[in-house]
Amino acid sequence: MSISSFRFPTDIRFGAGALALLPRILRERNVKRPLLVTDRGVLNCAFFPAIGAMLTKEGFAHALYADFGGNPTKKFVDRGVEIFHSHDADGLIILGGGCALDVGKAIGLMATHEGDLFDYEDDKPGARVIEPHLPFMVAIPTTAGTGSEVGGSSVISDDTTHRKFIIWGTAMVPKVVLADPELTFELPAAITAYTGMDALTHNIEAYLAKNYHPLCEGVAVEGVRLAFEFLPRAVEMPRDLEARKGMLMSSMMGATAFQKGLGVTHSCAHALSTCFDWHHGFANAVMLPACLQFNRDVSLTKFAHLARVLGATGNSTEALADAFLQKVETLCREVGIPKTLKEAGAHLTESLVEVAFHDSCHANNPKPCHKEDFQRIFAQVEG
Ligand SMILES: [Zn+2]
Repeated sequence: MSISSFRFPTDIRFGAGALALLPRILRERNVKRPLLVTDRGVLNCAFFPAIGAMLTKEGFAHALYADFGGNPTKKFVDRGVEIFHSHDADGLIILGGGCALDVGKAIGLMATHEGDLFDYEDDKPGARVIEPHLPFMVAIPTTAGTGSEVGGSSVISDDTTHRKFIIWGTAMVPKVVLADPELTFELPAAITAYTGMDALTHNIEAYLAKNYHPLCEGVAVEGVRLAFEFLPRAVEMPRDLEARKGMLMSSMMGATAFQKGLGVTHSCAHALSTCFDWHHGFANAVMLPACLQFNRDVSLTKFAHLARVLGATGNSTEALADAFLQKVETLCREVGIPKTLKEAGAHLTESLVEVAFHDSCHANNPKPCHKEDFQRIFAQVEG
């Protein structure tokens, strides 16, 4: 078994078969009664039954919490905390895509912290402080997109108002990540495409974001390259290990890089998810070309650099920048992303513009995006 080990940004064991390291990791941390948190969808995966069997065989008294799915809301977290306590759990195994990871990390927070989850909202004046004493958390991603397994944030919605709250703390970064690309073999082509486009968007937006953070920029550029090389293959051939590896890595690189910030694409995507319940990655994918076009004038040099990294040649920065935009368009078509809101079943509404404008992601966009700009961007892709 060839497993690579990284300590950046957390302890990552990466490679086919990494899942088998789970019992050893738990023993090293003296975890005996883990709570396995996963979403409903994962229960149907072929690999799932073997995980419970492995834990039982290795002598762990684990409990399972899997009665949730879709967009993560607070009631999923509250229920998970109850189960954590009633099982007298001493650690968390968080298995799944963005939903399970966000819910699992928030359970870890609330299992050891007083008050209400939303009291810990990032940047809220008077927010409660997240202390370092969270239970041991090991994250095992089953999608390649959000990269939430290497991040310290949880995005959880209020069950009634649907408002999204971002909870963030360095203590919420899982202590160990078992990144096993074989666990993504069963992802359907469409989900592979949407989650993969989310990873690509994280890398591109992080690279363009206006903050000073060359470490993140270096990571982001390679994350972009990996997504371009491997996303079409992963969509086309679900059991192509090299492609799945490339995408799982691109996803973790995207989440590592977006500590630097995101941009206008994510604000548009959040609005489409709020107003039309769109899949996050799908929403990013539909909006990405128009949002990049919006940033073109201030991001020419960076676009040109990405074009070169992707193999384009030419002397003029302008031509290279356009070559990059063309490559993004081509990739979108290749993996089956619709060109317009109409094609994807949505239309331009006032609240779409309103939600996008009030979203915090575009604060780091390389150029300011006013309400009229959002209006124009959405109009451009309305179709
Ligand atoms: Zn995203």
